[in-house]
Parts: sequence; structure tokens; C-alpha cells
Amino acid sequence: TINSSDQAIQLEDKYGAHNYHPLPVVLAKGEGVFLWDVEGKKYYDFLSAYSAVNQGHCHPRIKDALIEQAGTLTLTSRAFFNNVLGPFEKYITEYFGFEKVLPMNTGAEGVETAIKIARKWGYEKKGVAENEGVIVVAKNNFHGRTTTVISFSNDENARKNFGPYTPGFEKIAYDDIEALEKALENKNVVAFLVEPIQGEAGVYTPADDYIRKVSETCKKHNVLFIADEIQTGIARTGSLLAVCGNCTCEGHCEKQATYIKPDMLILGKAISGGFYPVSAVLADNHIMDVIKPGQHGSTFGGNPLGAQVAMTALEVVRDEKLAQNARKLGDIFRGRMQILVDKYSILKLVRGKGLLNAVVVNDSQDSSTAWDMCVALKDNGLLAKPTHGNIIRFAPPLVMTEDQLHECCDIIEKVVKEF
Ligand code: PLP
Repeated sequence: TINSSDQAIQLEDKYGAHNYHPLPVVLAKGEGVFLWDVEGKKYYDFLSAYSAVNQGHCHPRIKDALIEQAGTLTLTSRAFFNNVLGPFEKYITEYFGFEKVLPMNTGAEGVETAIKIARKWGYEKKGVAENEGVIVVAKNNFHGRTTTVISFSNDENARKNFGPYTPGFEKIAYDDIEALEKALENKNVVAFLVEPIQGEAGVYTPADDYIRKVSETCKKHNVLFIADEIQTGIARTGSLLAVCGNCTCEGHCEKQATYIKPDMLILGKAISGGFYPVSAVLADNHIMDVIKPGQHGSTFGGNPLGAQVAMTALEVVRDEKLAQNARKLGDIFRGRMQILVDKYSILKLVRGKGLLNAVVVNDSQDSSTAWDMCVALKDNGLLAKPTHGNIIRFAPPLVMTEDQLHECCDIIEKVVKEF
């Protein structure tokens, strides 16, 4: 058993691959918006496991669903039917307004799935010659870590020495409709894969009408618009999905003028509230029906444990009105951070939507200021992580109260003052 944080860090250092650079804190317990380390120190979580625990840590309803299903049936594989997958598929497709779902496990697998479906759709429905299909993506994207997905990353650290890369991808500038128009003139383009807000890149929010124009441009050229909402989805940005625009309803509603329905929607992370890896690709029949038995799958994808957990996690999002809370708290958070930006020259700007926000530190990208600030925040009881050197992402669980958020902003202000 682990008695100290140092001991746990030494074990990871000695026996684990060094593929991450964590903040020096060893967590042992979580509840709602709080985490506790091995020594019992309490923290506010401001990362939410990269937006996977939107419902808060160890949500009791999801926990009960997991325990009950774990004692009943966990895995059958898709060689047989199971009695939870069908109800889950009905629930999630109605929830998000699509005709079909293809369940997988991790986000990267969801992206791989969407890429496979889009290519096959391109050859069988659009009439692109086999092996000629092109998928357009945005610069500075983050869609996961598999070989194909890093093939179209422009983050050298994520890519270098992992080649040869998968061909068939073209990168264009993010938030640039003209670049998209131009790229789609190529008749071999089958899809445009994009994050409605670029999370890992540093919470880059595009122009308000970008997603609507993306959808229109794709339609015009008979190209599939694939939205990767693995990080932005499930109420994080103050609406159920980032493609919902400013819609405040807690469920799918096509009546809302601001809702832009993608041809394919990729979800992961908070779809299961942090309990179990579940991802999903949603699409309508005319797209999804290109996939026939034996052409795609996963031993664990669609298992009854994940399906039950995901259904319950989505119920929590709706019942607890998490999108509304994210919207309200996000406005307060950016308001308070803007005051700090105006007052302290060490901060450059704040941006984001709902409770997916970033503060840019006024320093070069290779400086350690943002990291040092995160260490100081940790010492003051708040956990956040820098991304791309000088950007700090702030993304607490969506179950936070207004009082708690103000307390967190006080902690951030205290730390910023010291820099
Ligand atoms: N797509 C986006 C937008 C993400 O933010 C992430 C994870 O951060 C992924 C895909 C990959 O998900 P996973 O780490 O579950 O493979």
C-alpha cells in the first residue's frame, strides 16, 4: 500500500513508461468537485480528467448503476446480443437526435471509427474512386494518439518518429471558411473532421458563425461534416453540445435555430462520467448503413456495463441541468478572470465557453511560468494543468456551485498576485 505521495511518484517513475509529465500530486479520493491526495489534502479539481468527469467525481447515481450492472452482466462481446445495449442505443440516439450509434471505448477509437465510416461512405455513396478519399482536418487539431490520428496532427512532439503516416488527410487553417471552400473543391474530399472548439490546442473558440458555415459548405460539396465533441460535448460548453450554439435546452431539440446537426458526431469522455471508457459515433442511416457485419467493432464496445453507465451518466446531465450550470458559471468565471487580466500584466487573456476556459500567461511558450503557476495553485488547493507552455486550461466539474466557483477564483487571484 501507498503511504506517501513520494512513494507513489517513485513507483510510477521506475515502473511506468514516461509518456506523461504530471503535476506532482498523488490523488487518492474524489467526490463531486473535490479531490484528496494521499496525505489527505483537499483540492478543487479544475481539469475534470480532461472533461471526462463533468458529472463530478464518483457521482452516486452512476456509481450505483455501475455496481448493480457489475454484479449482473459485464461483457458478452458482440457475438451475442445483450439486454442493455439496445436500450442504450435507443436512449443515446434519441438524446442527440440521430438514427444510429456505433459504440466504442476510447475517444481515439471513436475518431478512427468516424474516419473509416466516412471513407467507406465516400467510395460507396459519393462515388469517389477507391483509395482516393481525402479527409480535411484543421491545423492544431487534437483527435487522439493512434497512428492514423497522429498522421494528421501538426504537433511535432505527438508525431515525430512515429511514421510512416497514414495518407489521405489535408490540413487547413482552423476557423477559416475560405480555406475550407478551397479544400472542398477537390471532388475526392469525403469529410471535414473538426473540433467545434479546439480544446487541447488551448481552448480556441472560433467565430460564432463558423460551425454553421462549416455545415453549409460541407452540404454544398456533398462532404460529411464530422464534429469531434469528445471534449466539448456533454454540457461542457454551456449547451448539451458545442454545435448547439447558444441553445440552453437540456436535450436534443432540432427546433432551435442555433443547433447545427453534424453528419457524424463523435462523443467520449463524459459520456460515462469518468467511470468507464465509452465512446460513440452517431450518424443517420444513410451514412451508418455502409458498415456491414465484420467490417468494424471491438470486444468491449457496446458492453452492458459501459452501456448502463453511459445511460445513467447522460440522465444525470439532463436531470441536474449541467449545461445551464456550466453556462451560468462560465460567464462568472470569465468575468472574474477578465478583471485579473486587466489588473495583472502576467496574464494576457481569458477565452472559452461555458466551463471550458483557458487563461493565457503573458510569457513565451517555452517559459515555465504557467507550470509554476499550476504548482502554486496546487499548493493553494486547486488543480489545473498547463497546455502548450503558456496556456492554463480551467475546466471544473459542472456540478460546481456559484459559491465554490467564487472561492476558486479567489484562490487563482491570490496565486496570480504572487507572480
Ligand atoms: N478528440 C478530442 C477533441 C479530445 O479532446 C480527445 C482527448 O483529449 C480525444 C479525441 C482522444 O480521446 P481519448 O484520450 O479517449 O482517446
